[in-house]
Amino acid sequence: MDTLVKLFPITCKKAIFFAIFLGFILTNPLKGAKTSASSSSDQHDFTYFKSITLLKNPNNMVLQNQTRTSKLKLFTSSDCSIWTKECSNEILKIAQKKEHVKWIKSVRRKIHEYPELAFEEYETSELVRQELEKMEIPYQFPLATTGIRAMIGSGQPPFVALRADMDALPIQEAVEWEHKSKIAGKMHACGHDAHVAMLIGAAKILKAREKNLKGTVILIFQPAEEAGNGAKRMIKNGALENVEAIFAVHVSHQHPTGVIGSRPGPLLAGCGFFRAVISGKTGQASNPHHSIDPVLAASAAVISLQSIVSRESNPLDSQVVSVTSFNAGDKFDVIPEAVTLSGTFRAFSSTNFYQLLRRIREVFTEQASVFRCSATVEFFEDKDTIYPPTVNDDRMYEHVKKVAGDLVGPTNFKVVPPMMGAEDFSFYSELIPAAFFYIGIRNETLGSYHTGHSPHFMIDEDVLPIGAATHAAIAERYLYEYGS
Ligand SMILES: [Zn+2]
Ligand SMILES: [Zn+2]
Repeated sequence: MDTLVKLFPITCKKAIFFAIFLGFILTNPLKGAKTSASSSSDQHDFTYFKSITLLKNPNNMVLQNQTRTSKLKLFTSSDCSIWTKECSNEILKIAQKKEHVKWIKSVRRKIHEYPELAFEEYETSELVRQELEKMEIPYQFPLATTGIRAMIGSGQPPFVALRADMDALPIQEAVEWEHKSKIAGKMHACGHDAHVAMLIGAAKILKAREKNLKGTVILIFQPAEEAGNGAKRMIKNGALENVEAIFAVHVSHQHPTGVIGSRPGPLLAGCGFFRAVISGKTGQASNPHHSIDPVLAASAAVISLQSIVSRESNPLDSQVVSVTSFNAGDKFDVIPEAVTLSGTFRAFSSTNFYQLLRRIREVFTEQASVFRCSATVEFFEDKDTIYPPTVNDDRMYEHVKKVAGDLVGPTNFKVVPPMMGAEDFSFYSELIPAAFFYIGIRNETLGSYHTGHSPHFMIDEDVLPIGAATHAAIAERYLYEYGS
């Protein structure tokens, strides 16, 4: 969006910081590199499977690149050793360059044409790695089958992470356009193609500004957000090693293109699923006293489940229990042997979430026994279908708000209400300070107003450079504010 660039014209500050930076470099050209080198060996313990030029010593590679980048950028950018709005402007300017916009859109379109489901993101992962290699960004692969952990910066603490999810959905795309999904029955209907493109875009910006980074940015490209708890497996494989804070974005059809939204505290609900089987004794419906009716027991259980939220939960603390399927016999005159019910439950805190789980189990079991039936209840805990609530750290939320305010203007940052949807970003936010935020893709003219997971879902691609700039500014400024 060109208007965003116009909002932040170049000021004389640029000239002042340029002069300071020039003086600094001329009097002390290798100071930064030396400082990094002296402390790098004991801090950096990554194993990069495929770094570009110096596989044996990725730290040196970073330092060489830093020195080279410093020389290259000396006459083109200001010194952001003191953070000013000018630094945000520069990031946005790089993101909005014509060639950058063209490239980032092409990356997104390639991913969109070949959507891949959870833990099958082989081509997507390959494409990401190719782009990282072109930029000479070292990375670790594979994590969680297709996941990638890349690194930009000094190789020194602090480490701040940016995360993108890569998986698509088993949905047939209904949008007719030039880059429609070429895989029948699969579609990027949640915008994860855009998330990957924005993070690759951020990588390019951060690489160009590597000399400014007062620490290290970790880029996490994870598989299987929609199903399979990819985040959990990425963490198990070391994605958060040394990382002290993490951020991620999700596109949102609820906000106009480029508008950023988030909130402190609980943002997305914890999500779980259940399946209960209530068993009785089959028999002729004309003589019900010879059978034990599981339909009656299951019906009572459905009614009782409604009382958990309405009677046992604090009305100011939103929770949900929904029964979504109820399957029994298929005869008019036979009482079935068993009823199978399934559904979902949501809550905004782990305590409430596990309280719901306990009560759902109790209600099924106890209601079944009231009607002389028995019940088994399954929560699929071993199948990675439980998502904890996504809770934003207050300080990380404030950081996103501040960065967004500088980039897109304070009026284009919105405090959003919590939503009952779930995100596996919650596995990261359970462990370290984190903030999840939305970026608008809504453009009535284009038709990008359909909800995620709709076959009509589409995005306004003008969001891509803004998202890339937001990611980059969040990371660079985090390191500026929390680094040494
Ligand atoms: Zn989704
Ligand atoms: Zn999603």
